[in-house]
Amino acid sequence: MSIQKNLKSIKSKLPDNVKLVAVSKTKPNEDIIEAYNAGQRIFGENKVQELIRKYEELPKDIEWHFIGHLQTNKVKYIAPFVSMIHAVDSIKLLKFLSKEAIKNNRTIDYMLQLHIAKEDTKFGMNKQQVYDLINSDDFKNIKNVNLRGLMAMASYTDDKEQIKHEFGLIKNVFDNLKQEFFANKNDFNELSIGMSLDFELAIEYGSTMVRIGSNIFGIRNY
Ligand SMILES: *Cc1c(COP(=O)(O)O)cnc(C)c1O
Repeated sequence: MSIQKNLKSIKSKLPDNVKLVAVSKTKPNEDIIEAYNAGQRIFGENKVQELIRKYEELPKDIEWHFIGHLQTNKVKYIAPFVSMIHAVDSIKLLKFLSKEAIKNNRTIDYMLQLHIAKEDTKFGMNKQQVYDLINSDDFKNIKNVNLRGLMAMASYTDDKEQIKHEFGLIKNVFDNLKQEFFANKNDFNELSIGMSLDFELAIEYGSTMVRIGSNIFGIRNY
């Protein structure tokens, strides 16, 4: 299958309100250009160096989303151009983002990463930590960063019921946050869930942004 055909097939499964982030990590520029020529404009990367290089080499109307764990000391390199940071997981990182956004005279959109999967990965916040962050004075006073919603990952498993259960929990946290804090903030409206293996399920649970790599570009060789 070609990248263009893969894209077409995925797009046919996405409702109009669901955006596709084409996860191009590890893939060469030619692959990205092929997707670009098929109309794709949003691409996701998870390494700062790789993202900077691709930003410099590829068309300037690409919207680059950073989907990985972002270290505070690297924020400055992507702050001038990044469109969305998917996985903010601390007030410390948020303050760095704010500082660099101000320097660049722009506002940076971001989402908070909710950790729900059973796996004990290092990244993401549990529900209580998300609430604590939002209730903090630092959060209330922060400038030039704009919270757009939540990002999360389900457990890496082929147990569909487990994945459904987790997507349900994520959607529930999102809805509660919306109601309690952001009922009047119309652009708190993004739920970034769903990858190659589970995006159709994620859509059933309210995903507005799916992050798909291997289904578009083929398996990755690291
Ligand atoms: C790599 C990656 C994806 C895409 O994974 P696929 O299974 O190839 O679709 C999505 N989200 C994040 C955070 C990733 O690191």
